[in-house]
Amino acid sequence: MISPTQFPPSLWFATAEPLDDFPTLNFQESCDIVVVGAGFTGLRCALLLANAGRKVTVIDNKQPGWGASGRNGGAANPLLPFNSPDEVRKKLGQEAGNKLLHAAMNSANELFDIIHSNDIDCDAVQPGWVRTAHYSGAAKVFREQCRQWQEIGADIDLLDTEAVYEITGTRAFSMGALVKQGGNIHPLKYARGLAKVVVKAGATIFGDSPASHIQKHGEKWRLHTEHGHITADQVVLATNGYSDDLWPDLKRSIVPLISVQLATEQLSEGLSASILPQRHTLSDTRRVIYYGRKDAENRFLLGGHGFTEQFGDHPDYERVKQEAVTLYPQLKSVKWKYQWNGRLAITHDHLPHLHEPNDGILTGLGFNGRGVAMSNVMGRVMAERILGKNPRDLDVPITPMRNYPLQRFYRLGLPLVVNWMRFRDNQELRKG
Ligand SMILES: Cc1cc2nc3c(=O)[nH]c(=O)nc-3n(C[C@H](O)[C@H](O)[C@H](O)COP(=O)(O)OP(=O)(O)OC[C@H]3O[C@@H](n4cnc5c(N)ncnc54)[C@H](O)[C@@H]3O)c2cc1C
Repeated sequence: MISPTQFPPSLWFATAEPLDDFPTLNFQESCDIVVVGAGFTGLRCALLLANAGRKVTVIDNKQPGWGASGRNGGAANPLLPFNSPDEVRKKLGQEAGNKLLHAAMNSANELFDIIHSNDIDCDAVQPGWVRTAHYSGAAKVFREQCRQWQEIGADIDLLDTEAVYEITGTRAFSMGALVKQGGNIHPLKYARGLAKVVVKAGATIFGDSPASHIQKHGEKWRLHTEHGHITADQVVLATNGYSDDLWPDLKRSIVPLISVQLATEQLSEGLSASILPQRHTLSDTRRVIYYGRKDAENRFLLGGHGFTEQFGDHPDYERVKQEAVTLYPQLKSVKWKYQWNGRLAITHDHLPHLHEPNDGILTGLGFNGRGVAMSNVMGRVMAERILGKNPRDLDVPITPMRNYPLQRFYRLGLPLVVNWMRFRDNQELRKG
């Protein structure tokens, strides 16, 4: 069984059904496709390939869902973060831009379809996502972004102060939008459930098997772990914010950002009824974003940007708790029972990236904090590419892998940038 020390001490780990450890790779194996990373992206890709009759092996540093996929806020929100539809088309061109926009718009539905069609028990609900403008000056841009998404078919209603309050229970925001496809899941239950479906489809999963290097082996690729190796026609790298030196350029193409998460004890019925009563997800337009939801047992969760990878007490967690009480003063004396964190991946253009850095190597990453739904799209797109779909018809364009500008300095520079963004957010919040 999984030992408690292997997973972060999250609400999700405490409440998911345990899953037997997948064995370590300690022999030589060959297959058609080896997938590195057993998060949402890698598992979705593996599932489609196994269903198409390919021999698939998945390996992970730890166990399925150990990365961001088992630690996130579980907010399955569609659309793309940071970029408006016009900006996406400007960056990618009309055709590729529109494909990505439609895939992103439908990403939450795609996720809930996988959950329902495979009967994955993961507390999935789809009541909608409320995105709020954090100050009145953001309202104009916010309305325009909503208009552009509505134009391509997104089901979004603009909300005034009263309507935001009715759905969220907070009066902190003067306006917002209800994106109806949004919802939430128990992410570790989903990751483990998906892993079981992948195995049922015929793929093999190895845990506790960090891949150390990849080398060309004749026409194939050989992936080495400490105790074994796998020879395959195709390698899929689905390592996102946990990308390491396995394919060094990959690590340099993103900035791994830390997000911290907190969850309260179970709220009393009265308290629970006053906060997100229908279990919508909530986030706002701040540069340093906060995002919240309730779980199936009426605990309130809030997440935000942080710097620590510790699970013990740290100012990052205190800051998120204070923010929760600002949004919901009724949480003042509630106990916070869980705190944890994880790494997500930011790309230079804030778009998800699909790269093919060599024949037989494919990688998809960079969900910029919106990966619960979008990672499943990326997994599908990579499987479609491997099964022969023309690159022009893929929902995510294949682009060259480029270093994130000044990536080497992110550890030094990031705190400065984040603190500056937080300062600007606070100034705007004060304007109201
Ligand atoms: C705290 C937190 C909260 C978040 N909240 C939300 C949210 O509410 N909504 C939302 O949409 N998104 C959220 N995200 C982002 C979302 O979780 C991710 O975008 C998504 O899970 C990425 O999935 P993935 O499968 O690509 O990567 P991951 O789940 O990170 O999986 C990568 C896997 O690769 C493995 N790996 C790496 N290198 C190797 C190697 N060399 N050998 C073997 N295995 C390797 C790792 O062990 C890991 O399991 C959050 C992220 C974090 C960290």
